[in-house]
Amino acid sequence: MTNNPSFSQNHVSWFNELLGHANVSQNSNDLDEVSRDYTEDLSFLPDLLLTPNTTQQISSILKYCNENNIPIYTRGAGTGLSGACLPVRGGIVISMKRFNNILNVDKENFQVTLETGVVNAELKEYLKPYGLTYPPDPASMGSSTIGGNIAHGAGGPKAVKYGTTRDYVLNLEVVLPSGEIIWTGANTLKNSTGFSLTQLMVGSEGLLGIVTKAVLKLVPLKTEELLILAPFSDASKAAKCVNDILLNGFEPAGIELMEVSGVEIAIDFLKLPFPKPEKTEIYLLIILDGNNIEELNAIAESLYPFLDEAGALEVYLPNNSETASIWWKIRRSLGELVKQQSVYKEEDTVVPRAKLPELIKGVKEIGTKYGFRSVCYGHAGDGNLHVNILKDEMSEKQWTQEVPKGIVEIFELCKLLGGTISGEHGIGLVQSPYLNVVFTDTHYELMRGIKRAFDPKGILNPGKWL
Ligand SMILES: Cc1cc2nc3c(=O)[nH]c(=O)nc-3n(C[C@H](O)[C@H](O)[C@H](O)COP(=O)(O)OP(=O)(O)OC[C@H]3O[C@@H](n4cnc5c(N)ncnc54)[C@H](O)[C@@H]3O)c2cc1C
Repeated sequence: MTNNPSFSQNHVSWFNELLGHANVSQNSNDLDEVSRDYTEDLSFLPDLLLTPNTTQQISSILKYCNENNIPIYTRGAGTGLSGACLPVRGGIVISMKRFNNILNVDKENFQVTLETGVVNAELKEYLKPYGLTYPPDPASMGSSTIGGNIAHGAGGPKAVKYGTTRDYVLNLEVVLPSGEIIWTGANTLKNSTGFSLTQLMVGSEGLLGIVTKAVLKLVPLKTEELLILAPFSDASKAAKCVNDILLNGFEPAGIELMEVSGVEIAIDFLKLPFPKPEKTEIYLLIILDGNNIEELNAIAESLYPFLDEAGALEVYLPNNSETASIWWKIRRSLGELVKQQSVYKEEDTVVPRAKLPELIKGVKEIGTKYGFRSVCYGHAGDGNLHVNILKDEMSEKQWTQEVPKGIVEIFELCKLLGGTISGEHGIGLVQSPYLNVVFTDTHYELMRGIKRAFDPKGILNPGKWL
C-alpha cells in the first residue's frame, strides 16, 4: 500500500511549526519503518511520522487532527502481533519513543510514575537498586514499551503468580481526541469511585486516547530464580502436570510450554545445547522465584514426585547461570524463530488452564482436518497457548480459503472450553474477522458506544476492529 502524495503541505507546515522539522518526517525510510510491526508480512504506509516529546504537543496534535479529520495511529515499539498499530488508512503515526523518562519512584508506596515510551526491561533494570520490580514480563520486554503493554494488557511467563499489566496500572495520563488531558484514576491501590477509566484504557489498543504517563504498582524484587525443565512425550501429560502442580499448592512464578518442533528450530538456529531425551514431544519450563536459593532447591525437590507421576521423561535443573540463560533465550526467541520458517499466522488462544489438554488436542485435530502444520508454545500456567500455523508448501488457495476455516474452528473450540480468541496480543487488525465468534451484536454496540464517547469522529486508530 502506498501513502497519499497529496497529504496537505499545509498540515505538514503546521506540524513543523509545532514540533520543529526534526520531529516531523515524510522521509520514505522513516515511513517504511513504521509501516509494519511484527505481524505477519503486513505493511501500510502513513503520510507523516511525528515524534513529539511532551503531553502538551500530543494534545495540540490530536486537537488539530480532530478538527481536520486526520487519522492518528499511536506507535510504541511496534512489536505487536495483531497489527494494532498499523496505519491502515494512512494519516499520521505518532511515535512515543521520546516519552522515555522515568519520572519518580515512590519507594514507600511501591509505585513508579513514568512516560509510556519507556521500554519494559529498562524499567525493570532501573528499579533494581530500589529493591523493587514491575512484574509483567512479555517475551518482547527487551524492546516493547509500557504504553504498548498497557494498550494490549500484555502478559508474560510470570502472569501465573503475578498477573498481567492490568493488575499493575493504577492511574494514567491520557490525551483524548479532543486534545483534553485527563488523569483516569488515583495513585491508590483501591479506588471505588465510578467506572474505572484506568482499566478501560488497559487493552484499548490506541482506540480511545493516547496514554502519555502511567503510575504503576511495584512489588519487592525477588533476588533468586530457579528453572526446572521437564520434557514429556505427550502434551496432555504435560498439561495435566501443570494442574497437579498448582492444585498441590505450589506457586511457581511461571510454567511455560514449548512443543519440541519449535525448540528444535530454535536450537538449530541458535546452535545452543538443550536436553532432548528420546520421545520428547513437549517441554515444561517451570520458573521458581524467591530470595533464598536453598529454599528454591527444596521446592524443586518436592516438585519431582509430581513431575514423575505426570510422566516427565526427565527433570533437569540448570548447572549454572549460563545454562539457565540459554533456556530462557530459547524460550524467549522461540516465537520469532518459528516465524522465520515460513509465512505464518499466529493465534493467541486462551482457555481456563485445566482445559489446555483439550485445546492442544483440538488444535492438532483441526490442523489435520485442514492440512496445516502448527507449532505451539506459550504460557501453560495461565492457559494461554500461541498457535503458529505455518504455510510451508501450502497453495495460496488453501492458505487463504481453508486455513481461516480451521482458525474459526480453533476459536470456536476456545469459546466452547470457556476461553476466548486472544489472551494478550489483542484484536488489532488480524483477529478482527474472527471477533464474532465471541462477540454478539450487543457486545459490539456497547463497545462502539464507548468508542463514540471518547472519539466521536473516529480519528484514533481507524480501520481496526471497531
Ligand atoms: C518476540 C515477541 C514476543 C512477544 N511476547 C509477548 C508476550 O510474552 N506477552 C505479550 O503480551 N505480548 C507479547 N508480544 C507482543 C507485543 O510485544 C506486545 O503486544 C507489546 O505489548 C506491544 O508493545 P509495543 O510497545 O511494541 O506496542 P506497539 O506494537 O507499538 O503498539 C501496540 C498497540 O498499542 C497502542 N499503543 C502503543 N503505545 C500507546 C500509547 N502510549 N497510548 C495508547 N496506545 C498505545 C498502539 O496503537 C497499538 O494499538 C511479543 C511480541 C514479539 C515480537
